[in-house]
Amino acid sequence: SYRKGGYHAVRVADQFAGGRYIAQRKLGWGQFSTVWLAYDTTTSAYVALKIQKSAAQFVQAALHEIDILSSISDGVDVNSKCVVQLIDHFKHTGPNGQHLCMVLEFLGDSLLRLIKYSRYKGLPMNKVREICKCILIGLDYLHREHGIIHTDLKPENVLLISTIDPAKDPVKSGVTPILERPEGNINGGVTSLIEKKLKRRARRAVAKISGRGVSIEGTEAPKSERNLDGIDVRCKVVDFGNACWADKQFAEEIQTRQYRAPEVILQAGYSFSVDMWSFACIAFEVATGDMLFTPKVGQGFSEDEDHLALMMELLGKMPRKIATTGAKSKDFFDRHGDLKRIRRLKFWPLNKLLVDRYKFPESEAREFSEFILPLLDFTPEKRPTAQQCLQHPWLKGSESAPNDSRVEKVAAEMSKLKIKTGK
Ligand code: ATP
Ligand code: MG
Ligand code: MG
Repeated sequence: SYRKGGYHAVRVADQFAGGRYIAQRKLGWGQFSTVWLAYDTTTSAYVALKIQKSAAQFVQAALHEIDILSSISDGVDVNSKCVVQLIDHFKHTGPNGQHLCMVLEFLGDSLLRLIKYSRYKGLPMNKVREICKCILIGLDYLHREHGIIHTDLKPENVLLISTIDPAKDPVKSGVTPILERPEGNINGGVTSLIEKKLKRRARRAVAKISGRGVSIEGTEAPKSERNLDGIDVRCKVVDFGNACWADKQFAEEIQTRQYRAPEVILQAGYSFSVDMWSFACIAFEVATGDMLFTPKVGQGFSEDEDHLALMMELLGKMPRKIATTGAKSKDFFDRHGDLKRIRRLKFWPLNKLLVDRYKFPESEAREFSEFILPLLDFTPEKRPTAQQCLQHPWLKGSESAPNDSRVEKVAAEMSKLKIKTGK
């Protein structure tokens, strides 16, 4: 992919935008881009630099993402809205062509990583609540204030907020940016040694910035699950490459398979409520460590049909009106609203699944089911909005387990005392 029209090859200490941004270390990549940690020499802050492939369709996609990101990034107090912020964008010409670059606020690990760190056992319920709250705040902002549907909500696209901000306190964080490549590294052997050394240094720096036990690289994952306890879990929604407006849609087939809503499979039209379906799938996954639906092709049926069957096994039969009115309904359902090729369904309601397979205590299973089941309504219009969901009692937490805001309150009280007594 590092050829004409493809990715731009980056080396540590490469400069961008006339020297304003200096590449530190690769953070990740996707189908469209590579993403680098970069140092912004103008603001002395670390940023994420998303460098798009250069072929026309990728340029087009980047322009769309910039369009969406700029519209959501401007406005008062966007930082509290749980969506990634676009800081800058520019063009960069390299041997493979002209690349659009997005400068984004630097965030930490994805929820997918966090789930891996839990050894796919799921996070403690108070953490699940915090994560759900953040995602809902992000969705409410996108839906209500901008009319935007994300359309690709999944654990990979929700990133944690770094706990230490080196821009605000570079001394305390102990992270020194790499500003230039050492001289005299033209010889092959020497170059690779220096490259290795720089990379190692950058890796340590990133681990420090992202803070407290969770590092960017999977190799430094905490050994035990308990390490997750110390994380202050706040996160933001990222990856707006596929986002659209409710009144200006681009694709019929949206969403990553496992997080796809039934109306998308049936091609019955969609709106904001598709994000709410994906949100429920994420909430389940964060709580249990397993994906809610993992459809597979089988003998005599397609992945779509298996997906619909799995949904009905968990949620009950799809109302006939919903099952039969999509453009693709006839491919899957007969006129009674029964699947044509998968005749026997094994019903296993969510509440029971949580208790039987995931060993949730009865009350916790009931409360959590009450929170996510309405979001998995087959009738899209009946799903609660993000705004309504934010009012749900489940998010307030239970009385027996004090939530973090209470812990914070106590900590604040204690520090006040310390100031008073001078200790
Ligand atoms: P996709 O194929 O998923 O559409 P993409 O090319 O559009 O990928 P992104 O998903 O935006 O790229 O980013 C790729 C990866 O880079 C992410 O999965 C994440 O690991 C990392 N990343 C992206 N944005 C940030 C950020 N703001 N801070 C830290 N890391 C980031
Ligand atoms: Mg992505
Ligand atoms: Mg993308």
